[in-house]
Amino acid sequence: MFSFSERLKKLPPYLFVELDRLKAEAKARGVDVIDLGVGDPDLPTPAHIVKAAEEAVKKPENHHYPSSVGMLAFREAAARWFEKRFGVKLNPETEVVTLIGSKEGIAHFPLAFVNPGDVVLVPTPAYPVYHIGTLFAGGETFYLPLRPENDFLPDLESIPKDVLSRAKIIWLNYPNNPTAAVATKDFFARVVSFAREHKLIVAHDAAYTELYFDDYRPPSILEVEGAREVAIEFHSLSKTYCMTGWRIGFAVGNETLIAGLAKVKNNVDSGAFQAVQEAGIAALSGDQSCVEEFRKIFRERRDVVVEGLKALGFEFDPPRATFYVWARVPEGYSSAAFAAKLLQEAGIVVTPGHGFGEPGEGFFRVALTVDKNQLKEALARIAALKF
Ligand SMILES: *Cc1c(COP(=O)(O)O)cnc(C)c1O
Repeated sequence: MFSFSERLKKLPPYLFVELDRLKAEAKARGVDVIDLGVGDPDLPTPAHIVKAAEEAVKKPENHHYPSSVGMLAFREAAARWFEKRFGVKLNPETEVVTLIGSKEGIAHFPLAFVNPGDVVLVPTPAYPVYHIGTLFAGGETFYLPLRPENDFLPDLESIPKDVLSRAKIIWLNYPNNPTAAVATKDFFARVVSFAREHKLIVAHDAAYTELYFDDYRPPSILEVEGAREVAIEFHSLSKTYCMTGWRIGFAVGNETLIAGLAKVKNNVDSGAFQAVQEAGIAALSGDQSCVEEFRKIFRERRDVVVEGLKALGFEFDPPRATFYVWARVPEGYSSAAFAAKLLQEAGIVVTPGHGFGEPGEGFFRVALTVDKNQLKEALARIAALKF
């Protein structure tokens, strides 16, 4: 009797149906499946953050509707954290908005600035939400392929003039999911000057800036001169503090861009539960040694996987940030065929690269979201396979 709207019918097909079926089948057969597919850290949220939430839940003033832009105290904590980390001062009243997880902000943002027929420039392979948010706003996605020969950065020069003249937003995401690529401040500066020239909004998804290794420090696009005039940046507490389930993040940047997003939110949701924002304040303002500990754990896991996969002859760049390894499948395999083989013959789930977009074909993504021993076991199982 009812049929889905055209916008739902236009959603990209879910490419992992077959893989999910194989995974369920393997589990039913009693195979001890090692799941390297999920981008959700396996570690619990640090105790001091949980405790802050426990106390905040009991306070009656937190039992009411929150403000849709977020508590000023949360926005102030975010601004202080941002200045300490990136050296950029923000006005917490006008340049910060609290989000119910950064996905919420990323999905809603185009509703504020995209009209039907406008073009949104979206990298591929990528997190699917940039395209889906565009679709829901009635915009048209123009894909910017991320290729290894360009260090997985979009080639701005390749965008056709007629596309550029209709384009409203360019999405970026560094450190990148799924490719684990990073961007320099110079690259951000090039994008900012390109955006100013072509009157584009730069929307930067910065979910992984705190998951860095060794002496590398991912920059914020707001460190670049002039970025405040064109850019909005989406931050998340999900990966930094192992808080994916809490749904808390924030956006920072240009006042008008923040105001537009806040206006959408004001009419769609009523903001994040204040007890969760208080947990967020405890995370951003508290002792940061928990983040250091998470980085150490992920670095050890990265080292196990990098060494293991290199020894088996796989080709990839060792990640300097994120908890992903993005590697080429062995010759003669498609991404789908390789992922299916690992699952059927070794009980290992990896994500086939084409699932993030066509230029991801020929790659697979390993998420470092299981412990070191399981990673070692997975590598031993792969070593026993013939390709
Ligand atoms: C995990 C992730 C997010 C963050 O999601 P939240 O909604 O904040 O939990 C955003 N972008 C990318 C690319 C991610 O991988």
